[in-house]
Amino acid sequence: MSNAKKLQKELTWNFPPAFSNKKITAKAVNDYAAGYRDYLDRCKTEREFVTYAQDYLKEFGYKPFVKTDYAGAEGKPVPKAGDKLFFVNRNKALIMCTIGKRPLNEGLRITVSHVDSPRLDLKPFPIAENKGIAYLKTHYYGGIRKYQWVTIPLALHGVVAKSDGSVVTVNIGEDPEDPVFYISDLLPHLSKVQDEYHLKDGIKGEDLKAIGATLPYPEKDDGKKDKDKDKEKDKDKDENSVNDAVKLNLLRLLNEKYGFTEKDFLTAELSLVPAGKARDVGLDRSLVGSYGQDDRVCAYGAFRAELETGKPEYTTLTVFADKEEIGSYGPTGMSSDFMVNFIEDLTEICGGDINTVLRASNALSTDVAAAFDPNFPSVFDEQNSARINHGCVLTKYTGSRGKSGSNDASAELMSMVARIFSKHDISWQIGELGSVDAGGGGTVALYIAKFDISVVDLGVPILAMHSPFELAAKYDIYSLYQAVQAFYK
Ligand code: MN
Ligand code: MN
Repeated sequence: MSNAKKLQKELTWNFPPAFSNKKITAKAVNDYAAGYRDYLDRCKTEREFVTYAQDYLKEFGYKPFVKTDYAGAEGKPVPKAGDKLFFVNRNKALIMCTIGKRPLNEGLRITVSHVDSPRLDLKPFPIAENKGIAYLKTHYYGGIRKYQWVTIPLALHGVVAKSDGSVVTVNIGEDPEDPVFYISDLLPHLSKVQDEYHLKDGIKGEDLKAIGATLPYPEKDDGKKDKDKDKEKDKDKDENSVNDAVKLNLLRLLNEKYGFTEKDFLTAELSLVPAGKARDVGLDRSLVGSYGQDDRVCAYGAFRAELETGKPEYTTLTVFADKEEIGSYGPTGMSSDFMVNFIEDLTEICGGDINTVLRASNALSTDVAAAFDPNFPSVFDEQNSARINHGCVLTKYTGSRGKSGSNDASAELMSMVARIFSKHDISWQIGELGSVDAGGGGTVALYIAKFDISVVDLGVPILAMHSPFELAAKYDIYSLYQAVQAFYK
């Protein structure tokens, strides 16, 4: 080896691909991906995630954390190392916790991911008939590129809180026998004017109305002779005809299936999401394609790692938050105090000083990163972008226009996490969200930092983020899971 070659090996650095990591087997990666795909199919909303998780909580011995069940009084238990606790926040966010061997004052190991994804929420008063078509009007949730959401099958997910206080779960469009919903677009033969618009204006927010039904009520009358029928029809028209008979038909069908009326939509949370299952992508099956991988890919890794944690050194806190895609506001989003309230309650019961606990804690804000896309190289600085198949992504800062709005993790924390990864042979890389001033974005990191907790972003590189069908590489998906496992050891 020449001196220059030797020196190059010594002084320069390139991240090796995850598939060259001898500690990762193709079988482990594929087995993990199979479970992941099943989870994606069952968890298309934050509520569905919380329901999914609860099945496992029982199996893995998690107990609901109610402060008054533990609080200091005589005979009430104090959680000990290895004990597992959980807290459900309004059916839309979840905290899981495994008590560690060290006192809380030495800090927690926290990961926070989010379980909401961009989608089309139904408006509170959604059904409108226009020229014989009954539509479901929507208001989009999160940052979507609207043109991507037309001409694809959509499924309706959510809940209706009825006037009697009961809550009905709705799911239409996922069973292969189910009908789906659909937003139309222009045919290319007549799109001359639309084609001249900027991409962002081709489909407007109010255009995102999904077709719900096209036949009036009653759909068909009985088999009477045509002559009689016509006579009766005329009579019906005068006496019994209704306006918006197609809308009525849609309401009737919903009423038959779920027992609710138009008024119940006012107290509902219903969303249209891409219908269908997660799939392997590529002949080598190296990628997973699915709706909602931002950020359910990190949520799954953190969830699995938390479940499998036995008796960790530091107490683990695994948080699944709602509302990230619309700014983390609301009591189930990370700008609410629900996480720190949990830590406070835990500190009160297990012993410790809350400020000391928070200051000593380290957190991973586990959220997806933008993968370098060779189709669109101009928006990336290739050298500082995450690449698919190169493992999970440690992101020092996000933000936009000069890192504005970013947590910007410290060198010391980056180094501490990098050392954990190196000790456990984790495939990882760094990644910046696109080239300088190409756009930008943020994560929940700043809402964790607000509590005096050290935090850095860790994620999985995603192609076509926020699209109805996002892509992630199986090696990267698996590496994120291993990274959280290592962080919790
Ligand atoms: Mn995200
Ligand atoms: Mn997002």
